[in-house]
Amino acid sequence: MGRKLIPIVRIVNVAEIGFEQACAAVRRTTLQDNPEVERVVREIVERVRTEGDTALVELGRRFDSPQLTSLEVSGEAMQQALHTLPPALRAVLEQAASRITAFHEHQKRTSWMDARPGWVTGQLIRPLERVGIYVPGGTAAYPSTVLMTALPARVAGVKELVLCSPAQKEGSVSPLVLAAAALAEVDRVFAVGGAQAVAAMALGTQTVPSVDKIVGPGNVWVNTAKKLLWGIVDIDMLAGPSEVCIVADEGANAVFVALDILTQLEHDPACAGYLITPSAALAAAVASEIERQLEHLPRHAILRQALERNSLLMVTETMEQALALANVCAPEHLALMVREPLALLGSVKNAGAVLLGDYTPQTLGDYMAGPSHTLPTSGTARYASPLHVETFLKRTSVIYAAPETLNPLIPSLALLARAEGFEAHARAAEARQEKTL
Ligand code: NAD
Repeated sequence: MGRKLIPIVRIVNVAEIGFEQACAAVRRTTLQDNPEVERVVREIVERVRTEGDTALVELGRRFDSPQLTSLEVSGEAMQQALHTLPPALRAVLEQAASRITAFHEHQKRTSWMDARPGWVTGQLIRPLERVGIYVPGGTAAYPSTVLMTALPARVAGVKELVLCSPAQKEGSVSPLVLAAAALAEVDRVFAVGGAQAVAAMALGTQTVPSVDKIVGPGNVWVNTAKKLLWGIVDIDMLAGPSEVCIVADEGANAVFVALDILTQLEHDPACAGYLITPSAALAAAVASEIERQLEHLPRHAILRQALERNSLLMVTETMEQALALANVCAPEHLALMVREPLALLGSVKNAGAVLLGDYTPQTLGDYMAGPSHTLPTSGTARYASPLHVETFLKRTSVIYAAPETLNPLIPSLALLARAEGFEAHARAAEARQEKTL
């Protein structure tokens, strides 16, 4: 038998399909328009609201593990997982943890006051009290995500961190996730996954406490629940199935490009990978390299689906056009595999993270560089930012006026208040004038 006749990876030419079509091809809408998923998630949220823990146990047994017995993982089990971790792996997690902490220390903000005689305005900056972290666990375990979410929260000074992650087949949270949670000093861990985990942390159940904000990535059910429950609880962003967009020139290494695309696709069949390049020769080389690599990768079933459904190699007329399309895509990860990446950085408008050059693999950004790998997906990098220290901070405005500072402002305040039809506002200002005469 010969090799498959239908290529897995599609190559399209912007000169043939036109720029508008090319824009449509790279625009991601996975988290924006999914009525059927929304219907299922609404049902799950309602069940958690009315049945609490009973719903969590039933849904956990259905989706994650029939062996699920206990919703909460004990502190001893977390410590045990850390102590039984192979020493080399523990050292790597510690190395990643110290880089992530060091990077996020740069983002710390403190309260400030603009204090003048008789007048103060300013901002109190306070950490959130209790944050819920979602750590995915459907098709893989993500100890890295524990570090990438919990450590920025710790740097911000969050008082209490709770974490939900689906039970693995054996009935509890992955030992790798538990070890990372112990390392990051997460307070409580629950073996709860999917939309029901988000609902539990938003609404509270008998066992899972309600939180002020839910952060962390997940699949389409997790993100749809975050979207629907926003308002009852704050959320960090929509961090859904991973995406990579590589903008490359003819000097790029096809093996590096192919592997960096496959890196982000091996998470989930809903992940997406794009190469956008003015070099037709590179696109052809990457297509055959992807097909060659695919045969040897253990998660090839997931990869094949993600390649067939959501991935594209696009040949543009110019490098400027490639960058314009990358900005339309607004990908979670943008890699600039060009000879002078810094020269192109100024043209990047929309991306969760930009990885520069041939020797900055996706792997480095995912695990070790320092910035959080929890990044906006599905085109939301148009307006959203990576998870960062400010994700866990809130601001309170401070205003003080002495009588002599208020006095000259009173006529203006009263005028504006009456123009808006608010007599009590006007009198509240004028009442002070009498006192300060
Ligand atoms: P997950 O934990 O997000 O989802 C597993 C849960 O999905 C299950 O517990 C179950 O409750 C729910 N579920 C599964 N099938 C369902 C159905 N038919 N109906 C209702 N609920 C259902 O784990 P995952 O599936 O492995 O997905 C993890 C995702 O996180 C991947 O897409 C990965 O790319 C993404 N990710 C993103 C980032 C980022 O920063 N954007 C980082 C890491 C991972």
